[in-house]
Amino acid sequence: MDDLTQCVVTPSVSTEGFDPLGVAVHRASTIVFKDAAAYESRGQRGHQGYSYGLYGTPTTRTLEEMLTRLEQGARTFLVPSGQAANAMAVLPFLSKGDKILVVDTVYPPMRDFALRDLARLGVAVDFYDPMSPEDLERRLDSRTKMVWCESPGSTTMEVQDLPRIAALARSVGALVGCDNTWATPLNFKPLLHGADIVTEALTKYISGHSDVLMGSITVKDESLIEPVRGLMGRYGIGVSSDDTSLVLRGIETLGVRLKHSAEVASRLMDRIAAHPLVDGVLHPSRPACPGHEFWKRDFLGGSGVFSVLFKPEALQHVSAALDRFRVFAIGASWGGTRSLAAPMPIKRHRTAKEWPGDDLLLRLSVGLESEDELAADIVRFLSELTLRVAEAAPELERGRVS
Ligand SMILES: *Cc1c(COP(=O)(O)O)cnc(C)c1O
Repeated sequence: MDDLTQCVVTPSVSTEGFDPLGVAVHRASTIVFKDAAAYESRGQRGHQGYSYGLYGTPTTRTLEEMLTRLEQGARTFLVPSGQAANAMAVLPFLSKGDKILVVDTVYPPMRDFALRDLARLGVAVDFYDPMSPEDLERRLDSRTKMVWCESPGSTTMEVQDLPRIAALARSVGALVGCDNTWATPLNFKPLLHGADIVTEALTKYISGHSDVLMGSITVKDESLIEPVRGLMGRYGIGVSSDDTSLVLRGIETLGVRLKHSAEVASRLMDRIAAHPLVDGVLHPSRPACPGHEFWKRDFLGGSGVFSVLFKPEALQHVSAALDRFRVFAIGASWGGTRSLAAPMPIKRHRTAKEWPGDDLLLRLSVGLESEDELAADIVRFLSELTLRVAEAAPELERGRVS
């Protein structure tokens, strides 16, 4: 071979005796075929065959296989984000004239996607109360092709009775999809409790280091593989092996990270809940959390993400008091090694049932820092809140007098 050719033809070297524990990062758009006949028949390679980089590499298939086993499904697909997973999980199954029922406590971008894009395609979109199968039943009809769940609900943490919801959906022939990001497949397996499709934002706990965006869709039955695979191909949706290798690295420590975060969160929640300016702490493990009984029945554990409700007099000071945090960072994409805090509005994201509380919850995600330093941060935050409420109180009194 001439040098110029030599420079672009990858020589094959022996891999004999090289047996690493991890999978290589396979970068490829083109996949070469052994002859013209193999190329011509590439369409018959089946959903696990390799034909083009977009449709999978040994690296992406490795993570897909790991997730398929954890979720106990038939096949997993990787997509560029958790939100893409939600969108791609419902799109193949909805046509003009069909209806989707979406849980009212859904991840807000999914609500937006349903209202803007599914509605534009002629799909009827309605929302149901996560805690009322009766409400769901009233809204179900023969047009309903998909019931979308997220358990626990985004920010407000309602745990759904998934087996009951799935039975209702099945009675009209609708599929059930479930966003399982909070629990991860280590703590909940929706496909074993009636769901047909489960999505995960791998961006959160599963990758676990706040440096990659990815999502997964796992289907329960073989019959659901082709609709998802076909639509992803036509939309041109796929992920890189480099990003996938970051998720494969992160998932190896998922079990210890989740367990640690849940334990520390549990002790921090006790401390926070006892404060006089706190009106409640929402986490499925706490008896006051709506659906706590379903969490106890169906889940295998909890995670380190929870929300705090405040007394009315404290609300206006929460944002300023957050600036006292030294360890918690302020940010949105939870489930990483760093603890995060984010004030969240609720009312604008609820339509089936009005949110009865105030329009501010503080969502906290517990990471892997020193528990003592996190606890000290909580004390600093609550002290600042107390101080600000006390300072504002005399003004309130004066306002009443004059
Ligand atoms: C963050 C999140 C998503 C979206 O994940 P991205 O990868 O950020 O798009 C979806 N569902 C839930 C419940 C989430 O918390």
